[in-house]
Amino acid sequence: MAGVIRRLDEAVVNRIAAGEVIQRPANAIKEMIENCLDAKSTSIQVVVKEGGLKLIQVQDNGCGIRKEDLDIVCERFTTSKLQKFEDLASISTYGFRGEALASISHVAHVTVTTKTADAKCAYRATYSDGKIKAPPKPCAGNQGTQITVEDLFYNVNTRRKALKNPNEEYAKILEVVSRYAIHNSGISFSVKKQGDTVSDVRTLSNTSTVDNIRSIFGNAVSRELIEVGCEDASLAFKMKGYITNANYSVKKCIFLLFINHRLVESAALRKAIETVYAAYLPKSTHPFLYLSLEIAPQNVDVNVHPTKHEVHFLHEDSILERVQQHVESKLLGSNSSRMYFTQTLLPGADCSSSEVVKASANSSAASKGTSDKVYAHQMVRTDSREQKLDAFLQPVNNPLSTGPTEAMTEVNAGPPEGVVRPQDAEMEDVSDLVEIADVQEDTVMPGGLSESGRVSPETVPPRKRPREDVDIEMEKDDTRKDMTAACTPRRRIINLTSVLTLQEEISNQAHANLQEMLHDHSFVGCVSPQWALAQYQTKLYLLNTTKLSQELFYQILIYDFANFGVLRLSEPAPLYELSMLALEDPESGWTEEDGPKEGLAEYIVEFLKKKTEMLKDYFSLEIDEVNWDEEKECFESLSKELAMFYSIRKQYIIDEANLTNSQNEDSDSGSTTWKWTVEHVLYKAFRTHLLPPKHFTEDGNILQLANLPDLYKVFERC
Ligand code: ADP
Ligand code: MG
Repeated sequence: MAGVIRRLDEAVVNRIAAGEVIQRPANAIKEMIENCLDAKSTSIQVVVKEGGLKLIQVQDNGCGIRKEDLDIVCERFTTSKLQKFEDLASISTYGFRGEALASISHVAHVTVTTKTADAKCAYRATYSDGKIKAPPKPCAGNQGTQITVEDLFYNVNTRRKALKNPNEEYAKILEVVSRYAIHNSGISFSVKKQGDTVSDVRTLSNTSTVDNIRSIFGNAVSRELIEVGCEDASLAFKMKGYITNANYSVKKCIFLLFINHRLVESAALRKAIETVYAAYLPKSTHPFLYLSLEIAPQNVDVNVHPTKHEVHFLHEDSILERVQQHVESKLLGSNSSRMYFTQTLLPGADCSSSEVVKASANSSAASKGTSDKVYAHQMVRTDSREQKLDAFLQPVNNPLSTGPTEAMTEVNAGPPEGVVRPQDAEMEDVSDLVEIADVQEDTVMPGGLSESGRVSPETVPPRKRPREDVDIEMEKDDTRKDMTAACTPRRRIINLTSVLTLQEEISNQAHANLQEMLHDHSFVGCVSPQWALAQYQTKLYLLNTTKLSQELFYQILIYDFANFGVLRLSEPAPLYELSMLALEDPESGWTEEDGPKEGLAEYIVEFLKKKTEMLKDYFSLEIDEVNWDEEKECFESLSKELAMFYSIRKQYIIDEANLTNSQNEDSDSGSTTWKWTVEHVLYKAFRTHLLPPKHFTEDGNILQLANLPDLYKVFERC
């Protein structure tokens, strides 16, 4: 039985067509917000009742609608924004079909109240099925437009029944308005239920995009945001926005996509970006993304579907690829500037693999106080405050502490007992910074840091400041002076221009990021006497211990200038023999042309005697290779030489090992001693007592070897 074909009633056709454009209250609100934005509004307020099914009211402060246009605004294909079909190619406003208001008026009762800048008063008109019901009535009102939509789908039973749940509709409305609010920072938005005093979404005109993301999606999202932005002239597109880093993940992807300022969907783009994140986020979790693409209008086909949701554009694949690449590079973060050094710097590395990456619940994510689950792949040992047990277990045979101190009859001789000596004050300061275990450190350092006796826990000097304070102070003021005992009352105040200049040079050269890295690093292990591995955040670094320790001692010498403890030897040092010994060393660079060594040695002794005053006064040790003529150069080179002497070098380790072996049959203890010293003395001191110079980042003395997210990527692909 064939049905009879009849022409549909025009009103029914319009209703069906309208239903295509306006499927739910949120669609209507989106269209109305776009109209407000087209009208250059800076404030858009939405009030709804029953999820928008009973009432939607959108108020703006835009340009308004002229009285003479009010008759036809709700008719189909009336628009102030487009005249010819060709104009579609250069469309820059949201609306262009003149379809929205018409559609709404076919399925709801519409009231428009509007005032333009030059009108004397506002006008109000009501509409039904696209037609104005009566001539506009003058009324009071501010500039702008208020459109009220009542009883949506009152004449479309099926649709009304499908939208039973006002809460669901309200949630959709909040979603749409909040997305437009994020995309349009500088314009204030608010949404509330009629009768409520508080808005459920509210942004202000002076808040930033990130502020708006924070107020809508919360801190958990906003603090993990990375700003993105790229453009490609050949593809005629620009992209900017904010995306979350690998620390953040949610069950459902939150993707705010705007193309030419229109909230749209692009399944292809979503998929492209999700592929990138898949390598970084735990399985079946997703990121938050806000992306705004601007594509040459002539390349965008917005005429796909009446709802204008799904947008297609020219060069879609190439643009997706560019966006994908950019997102990936941003996710890798600072790695874009990473340098790879391919030379073999790790001969015979003997670090056990378990030491390299230690998982710990105390990961950075956890310490930030997030309640979010921490996934195994996010767990790295990054809390630098974590004390390792072996910090308390100093190897017994430390020839460097027992050797030299045995030869001394008096260590740190100086003011009578009971008086705080500068170096004591400094010791206390150091222990403040580096926990109790450090008081037990026995190593020869400038400033008489070598103490022969162990300090038992009971005798540990009371801490003056908790560690946190020190950290804060360091962050606030990274001038080196605060890190030393410079403020200790009994210190000698040094006002020598030369020394002050050298101090200034050190602080001018300091590299803030490196300093932060050293301050918060986790020590991984010694590769060799010269090289050590440390981890900072998700990155693994190879550090030149020799160069860093040299710099550390140099800085201590310059900053604690003339405040060192005295190491008095029981027998006066045989200067002549020492000079001879030095000249025998090929490192001295002695050649026949310099004359006989004996003569030179005698000269050195005489010379040092002449400089006794200064040496005793400022340094208290013997030196060579010093420019004695210029004060600043003299102090500088002297300090450099001394720093070299104290630094951890291969030679130092060999000497130590020999000494240990000759004293003790246990051949292993030699190596553990220096490793312990490197980890618990030197690298601890690096945290707070070193201003790493910039050049360390460039000369290969501090190298980034790997970054965890990259490794995960590599493994994932295997
Ligand atoms: P379109 O936006 O495609 O032009 P609409 O049906 O959304 O079509 O709107 C029809 C016309 O009504 C617009 O072209 C505009 O002139 C006017 N209009 C609608 N809303 C506003 C508003 N909030 N402020 C100023 N003019 C508006
Ligand atoms: Mg419109």
